[in-house]
Amino acid sequence: MNLPESLIQMGSKRNIMREIREYGLLRAWEVGAEKVLDFSLGNPSVEPPRRVNDFIRELLSGPEAASVHGYTTAQGELGVREKLAASLTRRFGGPYDAGDLYLTVGAAAALCCCFRALACPGDQFILLAPFFTEYTYFITGNGGEPVVVPPDYATFQPDLGALERSITSHTKAVVVNSPNNPSGVVYTAETLSAMAELLRRKAAEYGHPIYLISDEPYREIVFEGFSVPWLPDFYDDTLVCYSYSKSLSLPGERIGYILIGKPVADREALYAAICGAGRVLGYVNAPSLFQRVAAECDGLTADLTVYQTNRDLLYHGLTELGYTCVEPGGTFYLMVKSPEPDAAAFCERAKRYDLLFPPTDDFHCPGWCRIAFCTATETVQKALPLFKKLAAEYGL
Ligand code: PLP
Repeated sequence: MNLPESLIQMGSKRNIMREIREYGLLRAWEVGAEKVLDFSLGNPSVEPPRRVNDFIRELLSGPEAASVHGYTTAQGELGVREKLAASLTRRFGGPYDAGDLYLTVGAAAALCCCFRALACPGDQFILLAPFFTEYTYFITGNGGEPVVVPPDYATFQPDLGALERSITSHTKAVVVNSPNNPSGVVYTAETLSAMAELLRRKAAEYGHPIYLISDEPYREIVFEGFSVPWLPDFYDDTLVCYSYSKSLSLPGERIGYILIGKPVADREALYAAICGAGRVLGYVNAPSLFQRVAAECDGLTADLTVYQTNRDLLYHGLTELGYTCVEPGGTFYLMVKSPEPDAAAFCERAKRYDLLFPPTDDFHCPGWCRIAFCTATETVQKALPLFKKLAAEYGL
């Protein structure tokens, strides 16, 4: 049978995180779940804020109960977008209104709609390594060409010299993810202001806008001493892709949005193209019940203190053991440098202690590994003595 080869390949390529997760489940069955220390997946470990479930109960027993599961307008219920826009205006400035928002099936759909809406034949989208493994699939699947800028291994801030060299007349957008998966790094205001300056210069040189796509599912998961700048303050042509998956611990419910502020170049046409993208991708509308939850709970967060506790324990613990780590300013990820050149081999060794985490080769950052610490603190406490034994094997 004739089927698209590219899709067969994308669908057959293993997802290392899920593979490790499955191994962990099998291993838990063999040795007991309490012995398996699984740091593979970025699945929030804390409950949603109480208001989420209280609000759902109120909604389902109130006058809207009959309509709440119905179709909504494609861009999201007007009342929902108005409430959300008011919340975003209070939190970030703007001002924003309902017409600036398009509700989506999580950040994944927000990104896919942006790529689909922007990509004309030959257009390139720049990705700053390390980056979320799915970006390349989202871009190629939606008609764009990904261009990878390697990491600055000293800081894990974007390498602006390398970014400049990667921009061509075909560059349509640059994707920014801060706080970053997998590094946990928060891009500084200095970095963002220099990046914005560079993009403005290049856009003027090539005579067309270069958009910034800001993928921000970890916006609220930020640690003491760090703050996350609001990208539209730095660069007019910014499309914000947001998700409630991590802040409200709702990854399975699939809710997020695209924010397209008034200063964005060719805004009307772009908004229409995003609606068109959602249509051809068959999203119909973002989940109706959770649109309402988003409007009600925007700005709230789950209790994120466990992530701070785990991050402090792991970052200081591993560094003291002699590992080289990137200091996470946010998210629930920490990158540790493999003590041997092949990070996959290091992960295999760790597996012997039932310490499970992936190498970051698929995040375009070979030689490093990602530890997802969205786990119980007890898991981190049990892991540290095992990391100590592992360190001794390498003579750290
Ligand atoms: N972007 C990044 C950087 C992520 O880490 C994830 C999920 O882990 C997503 C996007 C997708 O998020 P969502 O669950 O909202 O689709």
